[in-house]
Amino acid sequence: MPSALVAGSGVFGASLADRLVARGWDVTLVDQFDPGDPRAESGGETRLLRYSHGADDFYTASAWRSRAAWSELGVLEELGAVWFARREGGWESDSERVLSAAGIPVERLDPSEAARLYPSLAVDDLAFALLEPEAGVLRASDGVRALVERAREGGLRLVRGEARPEGERVRVEGERAAGEGDRLEADHVIWACGAWLARLFPELVRLRVTSQELVLFDAGSEWAGTPGWLDFDASAYGHGLIEPYGMKVASDREGEEVEPGLRPDASAAGQTAARDYLASRFPALANAPVRTAPSCHYSLTDDGNFVFARHPEHERVWLLGGGSGHGYKHGPAMAEHAAQVLAGAAEPEPRFALGERARSRALRTAGS
Ligand SMILES: Cc1cc2nc3c(=O)[nH]c(=O)nc-3n(C[C@H](O)[C@H](O)[C@H](O)COP(=O)(O)OP(=O)(O)OC[C@H]3O[C@@H](n4cnc5c(N)ncnc54)[C@H](O)[C@@H]3O)c2cc1C
Repeated sequence: MPSALVAGSGVFGASLADRLVARGWDVTLVDQFDPGDPRAESGGETRLLRYSHGADDFYTASAWRSRAAWSELGVLEELGAVWFARREGGWESDSERVLSAAGIPVERLDPSEAARLYPSLAVDDLAFALLEPEAGVLRASDGVRALVERAREGGLRLVRGEARPEGERVRVEGERAAGEGDRLEADHVIWACGAWLARLFPELVRLRVTSQELVLFDAGSEWAGTPGWLDFDASAYGHGLIEPYGMKVASDREGEEVEPGLRPDASAAGQTAARDYLASRFPALANAPVRTAPSCHYSLTDDGNFVFARHPEHERVWLLGGGSGHGYKHGPAMAEHAAQVLAGAAEPEPRFALGERARSRALRTAGS
């Protein structure tokens, strides 16, 4: 039975551990935090699952492939997602074309039809809306915990500690190994350490780690069950009332570079911007109270493509990450690809390779 050691139990590491256990592998998963910890990029309240990626059919297919796994894990609220399109010929039009060609459900709505999906929606600035009826909202920490739990039932060993690369081996320090530390080995070692990946392998991985702010408002029960929403041109996105969190309004604009894992409250300016958007798009909520206003960090590659590649000097060592502000939903599809590669049944996808990349925001804009 092949063995694997996965460092990092965020969505990428936990999904991969789950897939390898399902293949009958002997898997150890190491993390400095417990699964679902909000200090990890995959932790906290919610993430959108949308299939639209503008003209990019690769990530469209990847998100669609991941849907079944999220549904099976019981963490997908299939509420649909609506794109507020301010013009023809932009991201939403490209998405409509790609989704239709792929056979993924999508509906073009008049602004007046979109207005009926929410208790209160301003549509004066919209050319049309695009509804993805089978998109929705993922419960983020719950999803990671569910993956790890399922893998544990299949035999996964979970180790709490801080991992450091030592050639092909992994040194673990922390609760498991008081004092001197422990060295672990496996047939395959996969570093899936999110924003920390660039700290562990600075010569190989370049990531911009930015602070991203969001606000969760207190909305009435009539906002429960409404679709998630995205406004590409405003770089805004969010969802209706999801208990116990609230109604989310977030910005996808890149924040300041930060140390990963700190998660301070959103700034006053960030909270004001969220309130302004809420008031202009959902006028009935103009005075909705704030429940919480947290922040989280993105781990951005230059071109928005993820990272999955073999370490150039260590045959059995792999790097996995670079979620770039849109990675959560793709966890299951990424893991299936990585598992196939590790099993020798596929070649690594070239777009995930190490090395220089052209700077672009094309894959992430409008968040999620
Ligand atoms: C505000 C916000 C909103 C987002 N919205 C969406 C969305 O709507 N849809 C979507 O698909 N994506 C979204 N994303 C992006 C998505 O959440 C990330 O791309 C994804 O979670 C990255 O997962 P990861 O496994 O790479 O990183 P992480 O979740 O950070 O996991 C890395 C893990 O590695 C561990 N680790 C690091 N270093 C070490 C070490 N030395 N030893 C042991 N353990 C270590 C960490 O503790 C952590 O648990 C959003 C992100 C943010 C911040």
